[in-house]
Amino acid sequence: MIYIEKSGWQGFRLPDYRVALDAGGHPNDHVFITHAHADHVPRDRKLTVHCSAATAALMRVRGFTGEARVHDFLQPVDLPGCRVTLYPAGHILGSAMVFVETDQGSLLYTGDFRTPPSPTTEGFEEPAGADYLITEATFSLPVYRWKPQEELFQMIREFATDALADGDTPVFLCYNLGKAQEVMHALAPAVDRIQIHGAGYGLCQVYTEFGYDLGNYETYNRDTLEGSALITPGSTLDSAMLGSIRRKRVAYCSGWASNDARRVQLNADAMIPLSDHADFFELIDFCKRMQPRHVYITHTPNPDVVSHYLSKEGISSSGMITEGKADE
Ligand SMILES: [Zn+2]
Ligand SMILES: [Zn+2]
Repeated sequence: MIYIEKSGWQGFRLPDYRVALDAGGHPNDHVFITHAHADHVPRDRKLTVHCSAATAALMRVRGFTGEARVHDFLQPVDLPGCRVTLYPAGHILGSAMVFVETDQGSLLYTGDFRTPPSPTTEGFEEPAGADYLITEATFSLPVYRWKPQEELFQMIREFATDALADGDTPVFLCYNLGKAQEVMHALAPAVDRIQIHGAGYGLCQVYTEFGYDLGNYETYNRDTLEGSALITPGSTLDSAMLGSIRRKRVAYCSGWASNDARRVQLNADAMIPLSDHADFFELIDFCKRMQPRHVYITHTPNPDVVSHYLSKEGISSSGMITEGKADE
């Protein structure tokens, strides 16, 4: 049995091994960060952390100034009493699942994951199995079943080219890190120019440095916007910036877009249910493949439905609710 405790905002600690997962932990802990989303990065920006190369680069853009010990995926790291390996999680660039092997068994902490993976990530790979699994379950109900990725990318391209052909600016509402770059990657073959809201630009540069094609992009500029697709976070929908664009067509890109109520709430012209998390059925299949002794379900206020489906497969599980907000 590996003893697990909650730590910090959304994270965990393995006190017997002094390993902290997406949490600052205690002094002298080995702190592993799965990815650069705000809810997974400890508030102390001067810590020494372990992470992937891209996660370190993205965290630096967002103000991290501590030491990052960078590890390649699938390359084990030996620590006192345990061995830790990062597996690519398919969620955003740099995202990793943390696999910890000990003489009390093995544990996999997923952070956030998506399978099949986003094409703007290092892919998705999983260990052969894990005795204990701590998994996120952001989309924890069976109503969440995603359409094939290529179909969603085609929707994105058609939305943009139709709007541009009519002289409208296609506006994609998606958060700055991960979703924005995936939508840009989908648009790259279909549109000549993309503008991105200022806060997202530096993050895009990291993707470019790591070799991902985000098309021909620049920071948002009102004067040269015409003929471009615009990428901006949902929080800017009612802003003066969007208000000043007279002819526009707005698409909201999120897993939550499969929920119709959001459409009315957001007043968007199109809802594109592109998620960077696994859907409900992929989540259950993944848990089955790991053949765990126990699953800890996190990142959801209602783990009961997931638990019910797992119990039908003979897998024991329990919710482990953490504080704090979900992904941006
Ligand atoms: Zn995330
Ligand atoms: Zn998350």
